[in-house]
Amino acid sequence: MSRFYLTTAIDYANGDPHLGHALEKIGADAIARFHRQLGDDVWFLIGMDEHGQKVAQTAEQAGMAPQAFVDRVAERFQAMWTTLGISHDQFMRTSAAPHHAAVTDLLERIFRHSPDDFYERSYTGRYCVGCESFKQPADITDERCALHPTRSLQEITERNWFFRLSAYTDRLKAHLAAHPEFVQPATRRNEILALLEQGLEDVSASRARFAWGVPFPRPLSDGETQTTYVWFDALPNYWTAQTFPGSRAPWPADVHIVGKDITRFHAVIWPAMLMAADLPLPAMIWAHGFISLGGERFSKSAGVKLELADAIARFGPDAFRYYLLRDVPFDGDGAFSWERFEAVYTAELANGLGNLASRMTAMLEKYCDGIVPTGVRGATDAADLADYAEARAAMAGRRGFPVHEALEAVVRTVGRANQLIQDAKPWVLAKNPAQREALDGVLATLARQLARQAVYLAPFMPQKAEALWQALGGPGTAGGTTFAAADTLDCAGWRVTKGEGLFPRPEPPAGA
Ligand SMILES: [Zn+2]
Repeated sequence: MSRFYLTTAIDYANGDPHLGHALEKIGADAIARFHRQLGDDVWFLIGMDEHGQKVAQTAEQAGMAPQAFVDRVAERFQAMWTTLGISHDQFMRTSAAPHHAAVTDLLERIFRHSPDDFYERSYTGRYCVGCESFKQPADITDERCALHPTRSLQEITERNWFFRLSAYTDRLKAHLAAHPEFVQPATRRNEILALLEQGLEDVSASRARFAWGVPFPRPLSDGETQTTYVWFDALPNYWTAQTFPGSRAPWPADVHIVGKDITRFHAVIWPAMLMAADLPLPAMIWAHGFISLGGERFSKSAGVKLELADAIARFGPDAFRYYLLRDVPFDGDGAFSWERFEAVYTAELANGLGNLASRMTAMLEKYCDGIVPTGVRGATDAADLADYAEARAAMAGRRGFPVHEALEAVVRTVGRANQLIQDAKPWVLAKNPAQREALDGVLATLARQLARQAVYLAPFMPQKAEALWQALGGPGTAGGTTFAAADTLDCAGWRVTKGEGLFPRPEPPAGA
């Protein structure tokens, strides 16, 4: 059993979970569940980034202490991940005591192993409170931060601890040359290579300006103690996770799943910190794209937001997961629209998989008293297994994690099963007793196809996959069945039950 440790970015505790957070967690959850069914010993970490000046300010505006404020935000995020069926093994919170202790350890490791890498420097810059960072001229429009045009920039001079990131340019280049898989997809790797070509600048490791964070372990030469700066607090969470009680997080991680906007922090600052601390690097940074809002309802009135709860309520959490993973390539950008959601649900779930399952169970009840007959494996099984081999290859990590390709391969088998019913016409075979063996063969094949679909769809639609598995009379659970077992399973003797439709045909949305 090989260990597989995957993480998502920790979400900033400054608002509610939104569509972008959901896409990342759903994609990562499909990967985690897939690897469990491959037989790996999976550890799946998600969580919250709870420190920083912006969090402290938002808490103050809400009339709350920062800890009470982030407690409330973390509860809302956790409730959303429960609703969406996210199967994380550990929920990181950077305000927790073990994280503080381990960040301090990591910084001390860097002082010990690379004594020249932290140094004091005074810095004057134009600071945006919204970004919690000093802004460069390219990021400033009309004297204001391009991302926060309603806020004034502050001119600030302070002495900080700095980290000698510039010293790592060549080592990072060498690492990427030796391990091109380190940053994927390739578009993101090329951005990092271009950044390294320009040369890196040193970065702040501590700040004087806020108290809501981890104290930097060593004072400045004048005795002032500062707060650990955001990157040295947030990025180490993937490593500090192993120090929490009950955690089995190994190190290094197999993959950090992050948005494309923060790839460079994960592919440059984080590995440089680990090199400075003499710790092994994660195997891969996988960057997914952005999801925007498209379609009529969002274009009609600018500023309309998508409430995640509304999208989940439309067809249930599993249909929402399916739609996002089907329509947004996990290596690029995509859009959410109500029209597409409805179209994908109707065509592929209600008319596709749902209809297949209800026709198949109805035929088995009618022709076989609900018991799956014995039948030989044939060309349909072979074609399905080739698709499933592709799904496993897509999720193995050799080409990153194109989750959409794995799902696409599974969807092809649904089309093949519907085609088999159309071609074999079991209702015609049933009229002729001489065709009994042929009828049994077709129905046994369809049962194996649906059973494999339940197992392979479990990472994508965990609840619906179990409902299908139960309707088929499969042993145990779909999600608890390995892919190796699915590929060889025989359903002869299973007792099917025709239950509620898996995916009811949609009623028009309220108010439409
Ligand atoms: Zn800003």
